[in-house]
Amino acid sequence: MKSEVFSYPEALRSCVCCPRECRANRLSGELGYCRTGAGFQIGSICLHQGEEPVISGENGICNVFFTHCNLHCCYCQNHQISRNDGPQIEYILTLDEVTQRIESLLDQGASALGFVSPSHVIPQVQAIIMALQEKRQTPVTVYNTHAYDRVDSLKSLASLIRVWLPDLKYMDSGLAQGLSGAPDYPRIATAAIREMVRQKGLDLKLNTRGEIQEGVIVRHLVLPGQVENSKNVLRFLAREISPDITISLMAQYYPTPHVAGLDGLNRSVTPAEYDEVLDEMDCLGMENGWVQDLDSKDTYQPDFAESHPFEF
Ligand code: SF4
Repeated sequence: MKSEVFSYPEALRSCVCCPRECRANRLSGELGYCRTGAGFQIGSICLHQGEEPVISGENGICNVFFTHCNLHCCYCQNHQISRNDGPQIEYILTLDEVTQRIESLLDQGASALGFVSPSHVIPQVQAIIMALQEKRQTPVTVYNTHAYDRVDSLKSLASLIRVWLPDLKYMDSGLAQGLSGAPDYPRIATAAIREMVRQKGLDLKLNTRGEIQEGVIVRHLVLPGQVENSKNVLRFLAREISPDITISLMAQYYPTPHVAGLDGLNRSVTPAEYDEVLDEMDCLGMENGWVQDLDSKDTYQPDFAESHPFEF
């Protein structure tokens, strides 16, 4: 069912796609907080093997990386494409060009299609999925988000998205304001995750090859010096959702050039910090999901200037 509220391109006439609710007329060139227009502004469309095993599958997921963002974390690991003061790398494509590129990667064996940081381009995501459906392409769709999403927008995507892949970054408003300019992030993101679980339940549906077909996986990136925040994220998930929720704990934080001079953010997570977070997971009885190795920070440093940003 096509949403009337977030359909493309009408929804961009007075944009309330995300919690910023700027009401910018993106169709007439007005730009809101995300500084994103009404077209298809793309950082990369590529095969990616480095997601959780059920998502990457045997052949990798076809990921569509959009440029700009409605959250704007100062430490963003994809800073080359996400910054609203002008991404370094951006391709302006037509809908046809986007779907052709996706189809060519699906032909190479990808069975899933991921939309990365899509909260500010929900009408465009709808348009891409519906254009693919018209071509009888129905990959498993994955909505890979920081979770600064409106519940209404998630409802509008309910029939189009099969896998919700949200982060839960902060349970601390001050931290959310300081690092991402969004003091309401804990309230917004927890409501978003509740809605995702309401739609899909807690169990992951896998095919015979172990590839995800439907479900919710929550990611959490541990930040240096923020162990208490990480513990509170895990406590929320275990106590307010369920200890059975599938979680992907990530250790890949590395200081980008934008935070290299900032105390606290200019280093990676220490083994002691990571162990403390892992201990909390154990205490809470959270056993479903994946825990990244601490040395993954050395291999996760994408370069979007390359045609394959995740191959080194
Ligand atoms: S998507 Fe962009 S323009 Fe629309 S409400 Fe969010 S930040 Fe504002």
